[in-house]
Amino acid sequence: MITGKNYIGSKISAEGNVKYTTTNPKLNTENEWIFTEASEAEVDAAATLAAEAFEVYKNKTDAERALFLRQIAIEIEDLGQQLINAYTTESGLPEGRAMGERGRTIGQLNAFASLLEQGDWVQATLDLADPNRTPAPKPDLRKMQIAMGPVAVFGASNFPFAFSTAGGDTASALAAGCPVIVKSHPMHAATGELVALAIIKAAQKTGMPEGVFSNLNSKGITVGEQLVKHAAIKGVGFTGSIKAGKALCKIAANREEPIPVYAEMGSINPVVLLPEALKASGESWAQKYAASINMGAGQFCTNPGLILGIASTELDNFGKHLASGIDEQAASCMLHPNIHSAYETSKQKMLDAPETEVLAVKLATYGANDGKPTLVKVSGEAFLENKDLHTEVFGPFSMLVACDSQTQLVEVLNQLEGQLTGSLIGDSSEVTKYSKVIDALRSRVGRILFNGVPTGVEVCSAMHHGGPFPASSDSKFTSVGNDAIYRWVRPVSYQDWPQEILPAALQDDNPLGILRKVNGVYTKA
Ligand code: NAP
Repeated sequence: MITGKNYIGSKISAEGNVKYTTTNPKLNTENEWIFTEASEAEVDAAATLAAEAFEVYKNKTDAERALFLRQIAIEIEDLGQQLINAYTTESGLPEGRAMGERGRTIGQLNAFASLLEQGDWVQATLDLADPNRTPAPKPDLRKMQIAMGPVAVFGASNFPFAFSTAGGDTASALAAGCPVIVKSHPMHAATGELVALAIIKAAQKTGMPEGVFSNLNSKGITVGEQLVKHAAIKGVGFTGSIKAGKALCKIAANREEPIPVYAEMGSINPVVLLPEALKASGESWAQKYAASINMGAGQFCTNPGLILGIASTELDNFGKHLASGIDEQAASCMLHPNIHSAYETSKQKMLDAPETEVLAVKLATYGANDGKPTLVKVSGEAFLENKDLHTEVFGPFSMLVACDSQTQLVEVLNQLEGQLTGSLIGDSSEVTKYSKVIDALRSRVGRILFNGVPTGVEVCSAMHHGGPFPASSDSKFTSVGNDAIYRWVRPVSYQDWPQEILPAALQDDNPLGILRKVNGVYTKA
């Protein structure tokens, strides 16, 4: 049953007076559930409890935390259709997407469990003592990663499962040994509460400390601000707008003890089309990109919002095929009336800009919150002159930029803000001629694709989902894949410690059997 209350550990609490509901964007009506905004006292209680829980949770073995994560996955699956219904009701996304995203979320939890079971993730590094070294003996130094403390996670609107309550931020922080307080996203608070209950149940079943997880409701910005300011919180995970991400980074930096905020924010994901590939298969790429632009009503952080090429008949033909592909796409419901109206406003600005030519825009009437796919075209020169054309339009929108030369294409890429992805569509025979383009593209992005579409983010160790600002606040870290765990840990070196009190990962006989770097050589010995 959805209570609409806050969960401070397993304790249900609703002290505040501010109430709110979520919206069904398909029906454009308010949902029946009523949520109580967390009070300042509840924020404090959750953070204090998380700090107490950390003292116990950080000493749970990797195997124990793996069991906890696997149990969360089981509890989420056990919620069955009730959870799927809440998701579709609150997000307007179809049931197939809900099922797929639930599978991804369960997969992420199990992947972090496997990482813990394998054990290598602590990056054990041993530089053994050399008492005979001259002029001074070398000390014994052994380094590994340890959890940094309670983490605040802001659920994202566009992935109610995979980037929210039990999404990648939560799963990676719990895997690392950090308690988590989720600031539930107000657009899908019921979905969030059901998932929170699954986590709390799993914590109880696997003997995790009370307060290892809390779920706070909030529709305004105060709860998030209080959480980030709270002395017990040691790190923040966020996915959303540049404005909110920057505001949280500022709060975190201005604390008495500044803390890291791992914010994933805006990205327009440039795609570069090379001439030979356009000649050989421009139409087929246009079809693939029409689908990618409209996937999930364009509400993916990797949505291809900018397509770049050198002006030619082939690029014109590509534009025509992409426009007709976009015309054929069905408009679909966006996540919330506010997100829909933000899309309409930012899209209209692009349509009204004197430099843009409209190639495709859906005008027919659909559901009230349907995002109508749109494509505009500008010249490279206009794009360089008007920085407003570089801003993200969150939704099924893309801009085709026709540059007058390879030099201008490189200039355009160099002027872009940081991006999550960059894609190159090219024939292998021509890529060497465009090394400057490839270099410029790589310098702006966290993931560079060859002959593909950027939507679809594989969850694996080699994935990097982050990029130079504003794609993310710290381009060294990923929010997707196993390495997301490294946002929530810090290295500690043990110098000259006796064997029997060293952590198992650092002991001479390697009792965990993990891969370690010993005197510069990777070994399981
Ligand atoms: P948002 O405005 O960034 O909000 C995300 C979360 O941060 C919400 O829980 C929000 O709380 C909180 N928040 C916002 N401003 C804050 C502040 N100054 N201090 C503390 N907390 C703050 O994102 P959204 O509501 O999900 O969507 C709005 C827009 O964000 C979209 O239209 C899109 O442009 C962008 N977005 C981008 C991505 C991406 O992947 N790049 C993903 C999602 C959204 P409240 O809602 O309670 O105020």
